[in-house]
Amino acid sequence: MPIQILPPQLANQIAAGEVVERPASVVKELVENSLDAGANNIRIDIENGGATLIRIRDNGLGIAKDELALALARHATSKITSIDDLEAILSFGFRGEALASISSVSRLTLTSRTAEQNEAWQVFVQGRDQEHTIRPASHPVGTSVEVANLFFNTPARRKFLRTDKTEFAHIDEVIRRIALAKPHIVLTLTHNGKIIRQYKSAVNDQQKLKRVAAICGDDFVQHALQIDWKHDDLHLSGWVATPQSTRAQNDLNYCYINGRMVKDKVINHAIRQAYAEHLGAEQYPAFVLFLDLNPNDVDVNVHPTKHEVRFHQARLIHDFVCQGIANALLSAEQFDFSQSKE
Ligand code: ADP
Ligand code: MG
Repeated sequence: MPIQILPPQLANQIAAGEVVERPASVVKELVENSLDAGANNIRIDIENGGATLIRIRDNGLGIAKDELALALARHATSKITSIDDLEAILSFGFRGEALASISSVSRLTLTSRTAEQNEAWQVFVQGRDQEHTIRPASHPVGTSVEVANLFFNTPARRKFLRTDKTEFAHIDEVIRRIALAKPHIVLTLTHNGKIIRQYKSAVNDQQKLKRVAAICGDDFVQHALQIDWKHDDLHLSGWVATPQSTRAQNDLNYCYINGRMVKDKVINHAIRQAYAEHLGAEQYPAFVLFLDLNPNDVDVNVHPTKHEVRFHQARLIHDFVCQGIANALLSAEQFDFSQSKE
């Protein structure tokens, strides 16, 4: 075969393989877009585990009529304009690929209205067919994205979908992760018309703790130590389980870097080291941790799903996190000690 440039739709479908693994990945990308648009109220409606319908509705800034079609194009983003922007990125998105990828493997309807417009506009695209018409619609300021029949034109992908229950459980987990990181955001999740989760806006400490309890369980909150550890530009906050309440499974570990949920080897190692003497072979710490640092000191553009990051000074970060947690565990022990003397 001669070398040819792939047609844009085929290129999009291939790229979709990287970010659109299953309905939950669509939900993650779309809710992150809503957050980037400044929404504080996001509703997620799911039908049949997301296989037939995923609808995200937000009250964010909206997309102007003349940018609606562009939003669906590949490498089209409003979030960066230069490589310098990327180095200091704080938005979730910057690749300009999610909407292009999702629309290449589904029937996607994008409806939006900005505060400057008196009416909303809607664009519909369907898989390979990139023809789209823009028509007037009814919608308050904000954006709705409706993704119907995910993978309808990529049967190989569709085959990998699990049961509705399993796919919905993955979606639920995506929403839990976001709900933990963004306590002030109102989130509603429905499945087949039934409200499954409703997170109210949590502003003060008590409300925030209530949200953590709703997501991680009362047991975790009751036995957790609060962390608030700072050094220069670094800030570690959140909760870790006391050494007595470690778990037999590695199932309660949430780590966020600048608000982005990550699975990071450096941080995980630091946490295990802090717990070292308290952990047996099959025991795991439970934690909800937020590390905030200067965005210039961490590279988030390591992988398309952005689950991985690279620290410019990994050793420094490792020791900072380890000390912060070790310090919290130590003060808990001293507290225990003084209690037991009485
Ligand atoms: P990225 O998030 O990397 O910029 P996307 O493909 O996810 O790429 O989105 C493309 C663009 O569409 C965004 O940069 C943004 O301008 C616009 N957009 C997408 N979703 C929303 C939304 N919910 N509200 C407002 N604008 C949005
Ligand atoms: Mg995006």
